Amino acid sequence: MRKPVIAGNWKLFKTNKEAADLITRLIPEVKSNRNVDIVVAPVFTALTSVKQAIAASNIMLAGQDCFWEEEGAFTGEVSPKLLLDAGCSHVIIGHSERRQYFGETDETVNKKMKAALKAGLTVLFCIGETLAQREAEKTFEVLNRQVTGGLSGITKEQLKNIIIAYEPVWAIGTGKTATDEQAQEAHAFIRSLVTGLYNQTAGNKIRILYGGSVKPENIKGLMTQPDIDGALVGGASLKAESFSAIVNFG
Ligand code: PEP
Repeated sequence: MRKPVIAGNWKLFKTNKEAADLITRLIPEVKSNRNVDIVVAPVFTALTSVKQAIAASNIMLAGQDCFWEEEGAFTGEVSPKLLLDAGCSHVIIGHSERRQYFGETDETVNKKMKAALKAGLTVLFCIGETLAQREAEKTFEVLNRQVTGGLSGITKEQLKNIIIAYEPVWAIGTGKTATDEQAQEAHAFIRSLVTGLYNQTAGNKIRILYGGSVKPENIKGLMTQPDIDGALVGGASLKAESFSAIVNFG
């Protein structure tokens, strides 16, 4: 039985005060939900204030990215060790916006994942095809490359601390969700890739989240699919009302 995960990616939104307001409204709405792992990923500058607010709650904290070095002359970067220090248990790596705007590649994603796992963080490993790749019928080829490249050199033991997020780029922030069937097809394929790279148990156990315009209205349909184990939520995680409705989908 795979425990569902609902993670909120706050992207480049929310001052400390706005983040504190959001989390304060969210806590009571989800506090009785023990069936779902709940994660929020604020901007780096709001991690500490959100951590203080969620201290006695069932909500976990994630960074939105990290660098692969622990420390050094790397201006502007944040290491896994510093995310842990700020109270994070999770980190998002390989988000399509980082791949698209900040030159992230399968190789840098792999280096970041290894560093984050070594430090003891759980990784939300993002993959997904663009619209052009889907239209060119390259979805499976792209997912194969991203999964194989991202997981290169990662052991079966380390895999236990990875959650995959399948996020078709054409569905992120566009209001266009993949149909339940499109998402299930991709998730089943990703699970089969993990089974092939590791073994059947690893494939059965890995949690695969869907991301791309998830809303209270479409979460139920997605969650009834056998290979969908939760969601990575952007826009709808910025309001306590919509994010809590997604968390409490059941
Ligand atoms: C995301 O940022 O990972 C995401 C899925 O965004 P949205 O829910 O807004 O499409």
